[in-house]
Amino acid sequence: MQVPLLDLKRQYVGLEKEIVDEVLKVFRDQRFILGPQVEELEAQIAEYCQCKFAVGVSSGTDALLVSLMAAGVGHGDLVVTSPYTFFATAGAIARVGARPVFVDIDPNTYNLDPNLVEETVSNLTDTEKQKLKAIIPVHLYGQCADMEPIVALSRKLNLALIEDAAQAIGAEYEFSDGEVSRAGSMGDYGCFSFFPSKNLGAFGDGGMVTTRDEGSYELLKSLRVHGAKPKYYHKIIGGNFRLDALQAAILKIKLKYLDEWTEGRQRNAKLYRNYFREAGLEGIFVDLPVEKERRHIYNQFVIKVKEGRDELKDFLKNKGVGTEIYYPVPLHMQECFKYLGYDPNAFPVSVEASQKTLALPIFPELTNEEIRYIVEQVKAFFEREKS
Ligand SMILES: *Cc1c(COP(=O)(O)O)cnc(C)c1O
Repeated sequence: MQVPLLDLKRQYVGLEKEIVDEVLKVFRDQRFILGPQVEELEAQIAEYCQCKFAVGVSSGTDALLVSLMAAGVGHGDLVVTSPYTFFATAGAIARVGARPVFVDIDPNTYNLDPNLVEETVSNLTDTEKQKLKAIIPVHLYGQCADMEPIVALSRKLNLALIEDAAQAIGAEYEFSDGEVSRAGSMGDYGCFSFFPSKNLGAFGDGGMVTTRDEGSYELLKSLRVHGAKPKYYHKIIGGNFRLDALQAAILKIKLKYLDEWTEGRQRNAKLYRNYFREAGLEGIFVDLPVEKERRHIYNQFVIKVKEGRDELKDFLKNKGVGTEIYYPVPLHMQECFKYLGYDPNAFPVSVEASQKTLALPIFPELTNEEIRYIVEQVKAFFEREKS
């Protein structure tokens, strides 16, 4: 059996007519830059993410970059984030001239450990404290970071709170007072990606920034067009961070199905849990994702393989099962961040995660038989190891 990590064709076949009709409208209009399609999508995403405003941008990476610019983070500033995330989170910090301050993750959720955030911040020198401007928690794999203490800390220290929600559109977090918030609505800026492998994927690159603050909204819209306001008058320097009308047209159609797809992913996660338990693998050979926060949207289903992760990956590949390692090298160990001077052992939880985690197929159209097959093959691998 062949089970790819992600098969977008299965999703597309049912949507083809609707999408082609909408895209044709853009072709006939010949308005490709911003315009009504982008504005409609922005309004819909703002509503979906329970934010007042949303600004369509060119990618999730640019969503992070433009948020940092809007927050006034620049040369010599410090920004706290996770070393266990997609590169863009820290790349954006470095690109505005700031310095990533990495903090290790929670071994269960792979998200920033709030206790370590507090510890790291309180260990900064007074000069460093003054330069600390923002914090970027990442809602990794589709589950929110533990936001309550992070929101409290960012308020106390007057830090910009920028959520990297690229993998978490529609994920929810419950505060201790019972308030439920969606990813991207808890900080000052919520950054989303429409990269095709995200839960809401475009036919190319795209992204969105959400915010509750009207001033930030206006600033983001201006930064997206080189800081112009009005056109050709530049008080600030921005960039070309625009979302294409064509991508917006496609995303508007796909957004209608997002909840259905999320349910499909959650159903698949349950099936995995059942089959892994039945197979007697859970807790012995592998650990399954820990659902700690309220609504996990399963952009990825990531297991921790106690021993032999790379061999298991190869074994599954030979059995036709696509998997991926997110992420094999924590960011503090990346060559480009050598200048930060981190000891490789500075973040042991991230290092361990990079050595043991493996993402299995979780896309909504996966069948029960395929999931069963995948778990059977994982079991076959560990039985082979024994003999
Ligand atoms: C995908 C992703 C990004 C970047 O989004 P792009 O649209 O690919 O630029 C940033 N952060 C995280 C956590 C991501 O998963």
